[in-house]
Amino acid sequence: MNYKSTRNNDVSITSAQAIAQGLSPEGGLFVPESLPRIDGDFVKALCEKSYADRAFDIFKLFLTDFTDEEIRYCVNNAYADNFDTENIAEISHLLQGTYILELWHGPTCAFKDMALQILPYLLTTSAKKTIPDKDIAILVATSGDTGKAALEGFKDVEGTTITVFYPEDGVSDMQKRQMATQEGNNVFVCAVKGNFDDCQNGVKAIFTDKEIIEQLDSANIVLSSANSINWGRLSPQIVYYISAYAELVKNGEIEYGEKINIVVPTGNFGNILAAYYAKEMGLPVNKLICASNANNILTDFINTGVYDRNRPFYTTVSPSMDILISSNLERLLYHLSGENTQLINKWFTSLKTEGRYEVTDDVKAKIQELFCAGCCNDRETKAAIKDCFDSYSYLMDTHTAVAYKVYNDYKKATGDNTKTLIASTANPYKFGAAVFDALKGDAAGLDEFAIIEKLEEMTGTTIPQPLAATKNKAVRFKGVIDRSEMPKAVLDFLKK
Ligand SMILES: *Cc1c(COP(=O)(O)O)cnc(C)c1O
Repeated sequence: MNYKSTRNNDVSITSAQAIAQGLSPEGGLFVPESLPRIDGDFVKALCEKSYADRAFDIFKLFLTDFTDEEIRYCVNNAYADNFDTENIAEISHLLQGTYILELWHGPTCAFKDMALQILPYLLTTSAKKTIPDKDIAILVATSGDTGKAALEGFKDVEGTTITVFYPEDGVSDMQKRQMATQEGNNVFVCAVKGNFDDCQNGVKAIFTDKEIIEQLDSANIVLSSANSINWGRLSPQIVYYISAYAELVKNGEIEYGEKINIVVPTGNFGNILAAYYAKEMGLPVNKLICASNANNILTDFINTGVYDRNRPFYTTVSPSMDILISSNLERLLYHLSGENTQLINKWFTSLKTEGRYEVTDDVKAKIQELFCAGCCNDRETKAAIKDCFDSYSYLMDTHTAVAYKVYNDYKKATGDNTKTLIASTANPYKFGAAVFDALKGDAAGLDEFAIIEKLEEMTGTTIPQPLAATKNKAVRFKGVIDRSEMPKAVLDFLKK
């Protein structure tokens, strides 16, 4: 199976090329030229398999230019004892017909691990096939979760290095600690004076700096990125939806063929797009429910067909969803427009120049048939955390709480009683201060660790080991630089 670009139908490349390149030269995203189909036999066969074996079966459908040994190597390294549960993703039964898919049992306690634990293996395998003898230097600008998950994924992976820049004052204390204490011999972390945009623009400037690229090329190094537009980061997310469905069948919660709703707290539209792909492959899915925080650009888009980023940006208690440009939406629109690259080019040029675009009535109708959308503010998010804990003794993080609230609104409005899977994207302790506040804890005078220790006492839950461990780990990276110093920092690190 080959891959095409959302902005140029003449592109046709292998999965290894798509993963090694990341982005198509004209700016399009890579998509599979057709979606493989799965049926009842395929899903039933998964029931008795481990997560790694399920991943193997599903990747075999997409990575047709990889050998079985190569796929095996990737899945077995990615989904092993680096997760704190043998099942890799757990399903919690919240109440009759409502299930929480916990995607945060990996080393950084956020769902980004599900993809970033395997991306290094997919990327190095792809590079070996397409650009042999080169080392890969990953550059990441992060507002928190992605940077740490990428560091954990790439640390000590042969043939790679990873550099992460984060805004000095733009991440939580826990996120800063997680990154500053990062272990590994091929990692470099540095704070940048400024906000996330400064970091991101600094990284983009390095990617397009001819002099830097030439210098690195002569040292046999190519630059690459770990963000969610890479097919190697999106495809692993399809796996857990199919796996979760198989798990529900295995546990007798549903019969094969029974449709379920999937609710996803959404930012860049990567996670929910993976659920859409699973549905299009034949997984029995009813509605895809897209949940947003106060940055509700997707709610408006799904309800009106107009994507308009000319609006205020809010900083919320669910920061990983504070985003106004959802890059992966481009892939959905490509498919729903009948692979109309002309329309995609028109819409995304308009987004760049005017900050808005409006899809055709036909595309809007298709979106509304597949998706429902809703949003909530910080007050409602915190109320949802308290309500869920008081009602079911289940503690959830701020992002999952947005999904929980939006799902409850959906159920009330529609009366739809279809069994439903809610994607839970972070462990509550990752956003401990907001969760503690939601439960009416008094944080006056307490630091980050004192707060989460109180949260443990209050709820009878446990701080995950990777977060607790940061308390006593040595801080390795203390540097803070100006944006203008980023290229030199990268070169100094890579040339060592
Ligand atoms: C990244 C992230 C999201 C948003 O996921 P997208 O794939 O960008 O839509 C939601 N919750 C958490 C905790 C995240 O880290």
